[in-house]
Amino acid sequence: MQFNEIANGFLDFGFRMNFRGGYNILLKGMPDIEVKVMPEPDELYLPLRSRRFLFSEISVKDGERVNSGDILAKDPDNYAVPLLAPRAGVVRLKKDEGQVVLEEIAHLEEHADIDKEEQSHIEHEMGAAGIKRYRLLTLGAWQFFYDAYTGALPDPLGTPQAIIVSTVSLEPYLARGDAQLHKRLLNFNRGLEQLQSLLEYQPIYLVLPDIKSEFADLVRNHIRGYAWVKTVNIPLTYPYDDFSILARKLGLGRDKGPVWGVRTEGVLAVDRALTSTKPCTARIISIAGTGINSPCHIKIMPGYPIKKIMEEYVSEPPVRMINGGILTGQILGEETLGIDTECRGITVLPELREREFLGFARPGWSRSCFAACYLSALRKKFFERFNTGVRGEGRPCISCNFCEDICPAGITPHLIHKYLYRDLLEEAEQARTDLCVECGLCSYVCPSKIDLRQQLIDAKKLIEQEKEEIRKEQLRQEELARKAAEEKNE
Ligand code: SF4
Ligand code: SF4
Repeated sequence: MQFNEIANGFLDFGFRMNFRGGYNILLKGMPDIEVKVMPEPDELYLPLRSRRFLFSEISVKDGERVNSGDILAKDPDNYAVPLLAPRAGVVRLKKDEGQVVLEEIAHLEEHADIDKEEQSHIEHEMGAAGIKRYRLLTLGAWQFFYDAYTGALPDPLGTPQAIIVSTVSLEPYLARGDAQLHKRLLNFNRGLEQLQSLLEYQPIYLVLPDIKSEFADLVRNHIRGYAWVKTVNIPLTYPYDDFSILARKLGLGRDKGPVWGVRTEGVLAVDRALTSTKPCTARIISIAGTGINSPCHIKIMPGYPIKKIMEEYVSEPPVRMINGGILTGQILGEETLGIDTECRGITVLPELREREFLGFARPGWSRSCFAACYLSALRKKFFERFNTGVRGEGRPCISCNFCEDICPAGITPHLIHKYLYRDLLEEAEQARTDLCVECGLCSYVCPSKIDLRQQLIDAKKLIEQEKEEIRKEQLRQEELARKAAEEKNE
């Protein structure tokens, strides 16, 4: 046994938690650790919309020449988070098509598009900590932060009760933390130190895989001197890396204030923005799935043409391209020409255009099934070659309970589905629809092919809307009562 192993055995006192549910789908086409750099593009197509952001406030004019790092647009509903120009070029505004195009691309020195007047105003009001937060926002690092419970962008001037930093990424096909950290450990450490400087006494929880690997040990050794970092070791089971599950398991109650979540790429962005004062316009994403020649990671910038990625990595179209992982990603429509600012990976699956002849009667030797009803259940565990075939029609719930068994949030998706089917929104709320972390496992295992995840997402939105309407009505009634009392006194 090596000294390091002995030392790790004694000194690795990180948290270990008990989880429920969760599942790993074994799939071919997972990305390996290699990071390839894509060739420079001729044009960039920057989508104005991403999962959380809508960059509706355009800051540039059609035909304007911009530098790398300039602010092209802002999202006014998300603390004015900016859309930055990843390269110098000439702007072509295609607002109706939902994108900003950069032509005549040049790879010049990046610069920080910081408003000096605003910066000195913030320094005057908030001091050095305010400047740091302003830089994180303006230089594009803040968009890597999440509110652990809602997934929304947190308030950059807020104070969290804790920060959860995750180096683990478990959704199939998404970019792996170790690939992003590889060769960047020093930057990661500096990023952690910068994060800590934003806090007073609040802890940083660093999530690591609960495995013995050379790389995990290297990370543990690097952060060993940081008393303010508490390590949390999690099993590599999807979706135990989810920020809201982790926050709950760590006892960071929602009522005690916000919890921030940030992944490996976010910590590296913090280092870049605060140590080098440079814009964060590059990212390492995965390009994976069974429709890809050699699944790996690619260093890329927002706006990179999807067509160019396809030419490089897809040899046998037709394929379905998904922005994100297999369980929570969104299908990339033909109208989307470039990578958006929040993309963490591109999943490519062979498109099944024709039904398999007598597919329903095949024993499924090469297909896996949660219910162990295919012949493949007799095989040892194997990695399936996934495609877009759904195999069969949707059916009513058969109360098999698979969705309940697998749900990491401890709720009963089939029961909520039945409430929603009968428009019983109040009952759905009482069944704790709000706890759903939108992992998609229930939809994956359901033998009746019910899209439970989407139903729960829609129900959560509806419940929030109803609550908001009730809040507004209460305020309206209070205002009316106040006015009536004033009139009476007069
Ligand atoms: S109900 Fe929500 S948390 Fe539970 S398995 Fe389905 S998507 Fe995941
Ligand atoms: S997995 Fe599907 S069929 Fe089974 S209980 Fe859940 S909703 Fe019903």
